[in-house]
Amino acid sequence: MDSQLVVKRIDRLKEEKNAVIVAHYYQNDEVQEIADVVGDSFALAKYCAQSSKDVIVFCGVHFMAESANILSPDKTVLLPVRDAGCPMADMADAEGLKKLKQQHPKAAVVCYINTSAKVKAESDICCTSSNAVNIVKSLTEDEIIFVPDQNLAGYVEKKIPEKKFIKWPGYCITHHRLTENDVAKARESKPDAVMLVHPECRDEIVREADFTGSTKQIIEYASKSKASEFIVGTEMGILYELKKRNPGKKFYLLSQGLICPNMKKTSVKDVLFALEKMQYRIAVEKDIREKAKKSLDRMLACK
Ligand code: SF4
Repeated sequence: MDSQLVVKRIDRLKEEKNAVIVAHYYQNDEVQEIADVVGDSFALAKYCAQSSKDVIVFCGVHFMAESANILSPDKTVLLPVRDAGCPMADMADAEGLKKLKQQHPKAAVVCYINTSAKVKAESDICCTSSNAVNIVKSLTEDEIIFVPDQNLAGYVEKKIPEKKFIKWPGYCITHHRLTENDVAKARESKPDAVMLVHPECRDEIVREADFTGSTKQIIEYASKSKASEFIVGTEMGILYELKKRNPGKKFYLLSQGLICPNMKKTSVKDVLFALEKMQYRIAVEKDIREKAKKSLDRMLACK
């Protein structure tokens, strides 16, 4: 089917079903192009909770659609590709976390938003890469179990050295693979560029960067900066928004390996099939959903 026809059918179905398409910054360019809202996982979950639409087509990975369902249980949340998951979220499990809590009964449990609903249900508070430092600072406990990203945990620990961190040994397969050699090569080929990286990168990479922040913070930083060239150390999908907002600036990926295979699974045709067949519905069990919501609500309430 021709691509213009696919987009027309999507638009018609969106109206018929009172649906909205939301997409993460790491999605394929053509998916970001047809989305009504593009953002990071937290902004999208918040948007979904406030939206008046009945159906949310979530172009992202499984935990993001779960978070949308947790915050808006009365809406139908569709994930266009059933097996679009996050390997880092899959590295943490609720049973393992329960055991860790028993070993550290005084610790507060902080879960990154990149976790399953079951892990969120076992956590005291959720965080994102934008607010992780503020969330941990807001806690009175001296001991923190941080799950699942060891790199984000290490980044926060450096900013709050007075607290003791028990780090779950998870990592993002896309960001964790960056090496010091990648940084050296990028610096050598673009000596005047400003280097922006995500805190899911290892400490060796973060130390070498000019700025470290979430996808949203990287976009804001680059958009406000007077510099004209940037080396970007996060998933390549972010380049779409960076270039759209900054047509006069140049952006180079820190490594060509910065691709999340799960984020790239969704195509525009999958979005059409999602709306036609109302697939794949993401609905978290009520008791898990209610417990998980507490950790998300506590984050939302945190200044
Ligand atoms: S980029 Fe990393 S953290 Fe994000 S969805 Fe992909 S694997 Fe998960």
